[in-house]
Amino acid sequence: MTCATCVAACCRLEVWCLTDTGVPPRLTVRDPRGGLVMRRLEDGWCIALDRDSLLCRIYDRRPLVCRELVVGSPECLAERESLRAVTAG
Ligand code: SF4
Ligand code: SF4
Repeated sequence: MTCATCVAACCRLEVWCLTDTGVPPRLTVRDPRGGLVMRRLEDGWCIALDRDSLLCRIYDRRPLVCRELVVGSPECLAERESLRAVTAG
C-alpha cells in the first residue's frame, strides 16, 4: 500500500497542532475546547491539502500528528475504509 493509491484520506481527520511546527495561523482554528486544530473545508479535507496534487502544501511545516501517521497503520487503514464507505454510499 502507498499513499499514491489514496485520496489523502488521513487529511480528513481532525488534526491537532500540539507543538509549533510553523503552521501559518490562517490555516488553524480553535476547537470548542480551545485546542488549536487545522481548518477543514466543508467536505472534511484539511485546508492545507492541494486538491489537485493531493499533496500537503505545508509539508515541511505540517503538524506533528501528520508526521507520525504511518501508512498502513490502523489509523490509516481505518480512515481509508471509512472514506471508501462514504463514497460508496
Ligand atoms: S497515510 Fe494512509 S490514509 Fe494517509 S494518504 Fe497515506 S494511504 Fe492514505
Ligand atoms: S497539514 Fe498537510 S498532512 Fe496534515 S492533514 Fe493537512 S494537508 Fe494533510
